[in-house]
Amino acid sequence: MAGEGYAAAKGWEGDHVSTEDYSAMLEVALAEARAGLQEGGIPIGSALFDASGRLLGRGHNRRVQHDDPSAHAEVDAFRAAGRRPSYADTTIATTLAPCWYCSGLVRQFGIGTVVVGESRTFQGGIDWLRDCGVRVVECDSQECVDLLRSFIRLRPEVWNEDIGV
Ligand SMILES: [Zn+2]
Repeated sequence: MAGEGYAAAKGWEGDHVSTEDYSAMLEVALAEARAGLQEGGIPIGSALFDASGRLLGRGHNRRVQHDDPSAHAEVDAFRAAGRRPSYADTTIATTLAPCWYCSGLVRQFGIGTVVVGESRTFQGGIDWLRDCGVRVVECDSQECVDLLRSFIRLRPEVWNEDIGV
């Protein structure tokens, strides 16, 4: 898996990252985005972590794979995490700024922190999330930009369908 070398280099074991190491959290989301691309899907990935940095769930956009327009990366990661009583101390990393739908998920469940790989290709709801008191950490990752934009160049119709513009 592409993220393993990086993970080892960063010194985190298995599914644990330092809670302040946002780039390591983003790397898990990026690995998911790459997996989605390999499946023929839209390369957007996401991962949810608890307050100790334990990985709770990971996932990627499966619109194409599942013929499901609601299968956004953040939702996929969130569903994979299962139930918990509170999300206030959780952090969700995503390779692309969350759309309105996924920003709504963050608000609905009270996720405390959102780590955003990039918001250049799509701004999504991050200003609204900040206004609502959600902590938004922007990584401005060129790797995230390049991965998604290369897909958009090849499959603009799928991207336009996904993002609802
Ligand atoms: Zn979304």
